[in-house]
Amino acid sequence: MALRETFDVVVAGAGHNSLIAAAYLARAGLRCLVLDARPVVGGDTATEELTLPGFLHDSCSTAHNLIQTSPTLRDDELGLFELGLEYLYPDPVAHVPFPDGTSITQWRDIDRTCDELARFSVRDAAAYRRLIDEYAAIAPVVGAYRYTPIGWGPSLGDALLARDGGARWVRRAAGSAWEAIAATFEEEHVRAFMAWMAFMTIQPLEQPGTGLNAYSLVFGRQRHSWVVPRGGSGALPAALARVIEAGGGQLRTGERVTGLCIEHGRCVGVETELGDRYDATRAVLSTIHVKHLLEMAPAASWDDGFRYAIDSWQPGIAMFVTHYALRGPLEYPGDAGPVRPLASGTPVSSLRMRDLEVDVRRGRVALDDPPLLVLCPTALDASRAPAGAHTLKVVGFHPYDIEGGARRWDEIADEVSDAHLAHLRRYAPGLTDETILARSVHSPIDLERANAHNWHGSCHGGDSGPAQSGALRPAAGWATHRMPIDGLYQTGSTTHPGGSVSGAPGRNAAMVMLADFGLDLGEVVAR
Ligand SMILES: Cc1cc2nc3c(=O)[nH]c(=O)nc-3n(C[C@H](O)[C@H](O)[C@H](O)COP(=O)(O)OP(=O)(O)OC[C@H]3O[C@@H](n4cnc5c(N)ncnc54)[C@H](O)[C@@H]3O)c2cc1C
Repeated sequence: MALRETFDVVVAGAGHNSLIAAAYLARAGLRCLVLDARPVVGGDTATEELTLPGFLHDSCSTAHNLIQTSPTLRDDELGLFELGLEYLYPDPVAHVPFPDGTSITQWRDIDRTCDELARFSVRDAAAYRRLIDEYAAIAPVVGAYRYTPIGWGPSLGDALLARDGGARWVRRAAGSAWEAIAATFEEEHVRAFMAWMAFMTIQPLEQPGTGLNAYSLVFGRQRHSWVVPRGGSGALPAALARVIEAGGGQLRTGERVTGLCIEHGRCVGVETELGDRYDATRAVLSTIHVKHLLEMAPAASWDDGFRYAIDSWQPGIAMFVTHYALRGPLEYPGDAGPVRPLASGTPVSSLRMRDLEVDVRRGRVALDDPPLLVLCPTALDASRAPAGAHTLKVVGFHPYDIEGGARRWDEIADEVSDAHLAHLRRYAPGLTDETILARSVHSPIDLERANAHNWHGSCHGGDSGPAQSGALRPAAGWATHRMPIDGLYQTGSTTHPGGSVSGAPGRNAAMVMLADFGLDLGEVVAR
């Protein structure tokens, strides 16, 4: 029989952002119900047995870099570390082999990283050190902007201009990541390494508005390593779920929200695919992709400007993921013995990295030397697999819309996965058929089927470029988290400051909602 229940706040979607928002609301004494269509909470931060029993795979995200500077973790505002959340900091940070047999390894010790770069160019090694030092001066400015709701503080441009030398950073931010790399580094291997790093939030390298990615990604890795939670990405949503439950809230999986209940112009609850109805006395918070949200209320509920902003929303570059269960670790040959990194990648060349954007725009699945991101969390965290065994995630970057339509991914997925593996084997020849126990292939359309929020490959928030960087997003109308319907709020990677595991859209949404309820997040945390 269909259910009808009432809560203070009903949350549609249980990604890490909406869980963070719900956790702050629960701390404020609000009874929250969190609904998710998937069988597990966490969205793109879920950890699941995707291949064989006992092999715990990060279905999507592995690195928890951006969230390290969030007040949620930095000041442990929600007490997550007492609830079992623990971070591990791999060293080496990352390893990048090249087709000519050379490689660059990034180490936690910056001197050691610079020594690696100096093998290719002494000048570039010095430029790397300078880049990290220079960005350290403005990292707090960018961080404050990201963890402040739009309208509550200055724009990023104004905040940068208020600093000595700020105009230089405004120019850099307006340019592309590649412009910054090409202007700073001269040697091709170093440029390819820097391009691969700058691409780690999957923003096109030559797109204006991506300039800060050339600095922030490599700076974050140099400072926090390729930081991962012990036990898997899912350790974060698991700890957040405990905060929500401790505050009297509930989480229900397998509950897809299909409609918003609107009464007298106000959102008063949601309906689900199972026919259940959940009423919200205070608010509904959504992390449903904005493209889908539009269909969930009568057309007259949305104003024209809002509708235009969503109709013109563009997805980002999609990902193609293969998970492997392995008998042994992933190893790359090295001068001083095998290198067993948690994070590695194959940029091939700086040009090949830049071509990714062109291929995606043309709808081409380019399998010649595909740049890859390769993650082997068991290199550091043995708890994720049976004794001696390992998990491996191989990520490629391709368009969602391809010739023949997105459903053609079902026909070509195995071939694409095979091509990625063949490419990786050029660098890691020990990755033989005998080493591989099982694999699980997830094309861009599979990622969308698994999580509707990954709309058309918008896994890092979508709408890449200036909008992703925050320059246009405020103009799109929903950045403040308040939606055009009273009582309805939005969080997740379609809101400021966008995708990745940052927790920023979640905490920002909580700040806005609490303020509307006459509460202050700082006071709630201090209680
Ligand atoms: C393959 C891959 C690898 C990635 N790697 C990294 C990484 O290493 N580091 C990093 O920082 N970022 C990474 N990202 C990006 C990052 O994981 C996401 O940007 C981020 O987790 C999004 O979080 P979110 O809270 O906004 O929403 P999501 O995690 O997308 O959660 C949204 C939730 O809403 C639910 N939902 C949607 N519609 C409905 C509905 N109608 N009813 C009920 N529930 C609904 C979904 O089921 C989902 O659980 C990766 C993404 C992918 C796909």
